[in-house]
Amino acid sequence: MPNTPKKCYFCNDSVLLEKKDETYQLPDFFESPSWLDEYQMTHPLGTYNDIPMEVVEVNGPETLPDPYVWLPLRPALETLYPHAFNLLARAHQVLSWDKNHRFCGRCGIPTQLNGGGFEKHCPSCHLSFYPRISPSIIVLIRKGDQILLARNANFLPNVYALIAGFVEAGERLEDAVHREVYEEVGLQVKNIRYFDSQPWPFPDSLMIAFTADYAGGEIELRDGELEAAGWYNVDNFPGLPSSAISVSRKLIDSFVQSVSKH
Ligand SMILES: [Zn+2]
Repeated sequence: MPNTPKKCYFCNDSVLLEKKDETYQLPDFFESPSWLDEYQMTHPLGTYNDIPMEVVEVNGPETLPDPYVWLPLRPALETLYPHAFNLLARAHQVLSWDKNHRFCGRCGIPTQLNGGGFEKHCPSCHLSFYPRISPSIIVLIRKGDQILLARNANFLPNVYALIAGFVEAGERLEDAVHREVYEEVGLQVKNIRYFDSQPWPFPDSLMIAFTADYAGGEIELRDGELEAAGWYNVDNFPGLPSSAISVSRKLIDSFVQSVSKH
């Protein structure tokens, strides 16, 4: 059935998956099974692996027949990484956009979907609404064979991470790197280089990852969010975020590889 979209189901931020042995996969549903509750909304998601996909938000049921389960988005992304990560990220962001833009923010009139794309439209004042994407920078700062790691007060004990933060309105990505690094740890950086990017649907970030070199200053915790920061080399790394799906972990792994080659 090449033209019938394969369905991906969400219910309250959880994803319907099929459990096979000890692994999970997206089930092959081209027609909705009768045991699912009524739809709230359906959206096309584009084509993945040559198969057209669509996301469907349903009301339940809470308990599914074997071997199907609801898995919250975060563990679902982890278990289906990397092949279905972008699909689930898009599905979740499209559903959030639909739920959060039911009325025009300017004049309060109910919005309408415009064609099959990701555009909601106000029939009164003609304002359009698209899925929100919030760019954030994350940066690995290098000083010789050391990198800067910092600890947020909300992290689990002994877990450190890279400097990151949202891009502000009217700001270039490079300026956001300079500003975040200075605001959080009081340092200057240079040689900012693009590394990679990753959608991060909690709820709508796009992480844009950079590397940079230390250029000056002493570490100073300036904004109250961090409780510790320091220079670490591979022999004395503190605890790092455990998830292998984050671009943060990719940046650190890439640094470790570059050091071990020398
Ligand atoms: Zn309007």
